[in-house]
Amino acid sequence: MKVHRLKVLLPIILAAVMTSACTSSPTGRSQMILKSDEELAAESARQFAEMRASMPLLTDQAMIDYIACVANAVVDILPPEYKDLPWEMAIFDSDSVNAFAMPGGKIGVMQGITKAAQNQDQLAAVIGHEIAHVTARHANERASRGGMSNIGVQVVAVLLGGGNSGATYTAYEALNAGASLGIMLPFSRSQESEADIIGLDYMAQAGFDPRESAPLWQNMGAEAEAAPAEFLSTHPSSETRIDALVSRFGVTLAMYNEAQLAGRNPDCEPK
Ligand SMILES: [Zn+2]
Repeated sequence: MKVHRLKVLLPIILAAVMTSACTSSPTGRSQMILKSDEELAAESARQFAEMRASMPLLTDQAMIDYIACVANAVVDILPPEYKDLPWEMAIFDSDSVNAFAMPGGKIGVMQGITKAAQNQDQLAAVIGHEIAHVTARHANERASRGGMSNIGVQVVAVLLGGGNSGATYTAYEALNAGASLGIMLPFSRSQESEADIIGLDYMAQAGFDPRESAPLWQNMGAEAEAAPAEFLSTHPSSETRIDALVSRFGVTLAMYNEAQLAGRNPDCEPK
């Protein structure tokens, strides 16, 4: 079994934080958080380990290094409270055009994502989006939402983009098989839009060109169209999310330029 651990792994900080019910996301949106982050993270880690053990992992070292390089560059610019999470990434040997995030800093990437993420900046848009779901505690928020608060610990592994694609369904099945106790729930549209915006800032701060997020979501849309609907999703349409991203390019290009000046100029693509 080959498991890729992010090089930025830091000692696990066990902050036994019982969260207050009402809090706000990094963009200032008010959130209802009822679950314990610690409890969710522990269950998430257990299920992530199960997935790694039951789904084939990528063995192409150059590809592993490439994806890990992008993820490390993004994690590296996170504020300390997020950077210090026990980040872990698994890269699965699957054609599925997908990626997912789980509470506590677990990220899964299907190799097929590189069909849509065609350069390191586009890949950074995907990984930034997934990392944003974690830092914005979207899974906790989702699990805390009405009607779900009595079910106990729930871990939400969430699939990226192209939710209406056959490829996504394949990943959905695989995840279900791997995480037999996992509950798959899509994030809400507002959470998706928020992850797009936060992720855009993250990628730009890491020195990836934020403008590449637009072709990334175009490619994701094309992939979704190529495989018709099988999995109900609340993902925003590519056009909607691209419009929102483009309207933030002014802010993020300044972040990008600043990152470049500070020497953050990632060079991850395989030579
Ligand atoms: Zn998402």
